[in-house]
Amino acid sequence: MAYVISDECIACGACAAECSVNAISEGDGKYVIDADTCISCGNCANVCPVGAPKAE
Ligand code: SF4
Ligand code: SF4
Repeated sequence: MAYVISDECIACGACAAECSVNAISEGDGKYVIDADTCISCGNCANVCPVGAPKAE
């Protein structure tokens, strides 16, 4: 189980700053989560202005 960032992402970077395990990096037009690193804490979803990170 990990969070996944949908195409709704506007690449603001807020989630990456809140991820305690540095699982989030800037991708091609949006931010992406490394599923192997994500501990599913939900911080990224809580700070995202557009609700792009979803629990899979
Ligand atoms: Fe990082 Fe938590 Fe979001 Fe996973 S759910 S990417 S660990 S902030
Ligand atoms: Fe994208 Fe939301 Fe992260 Fe901003 S906080 S980079 S909109 S997923």
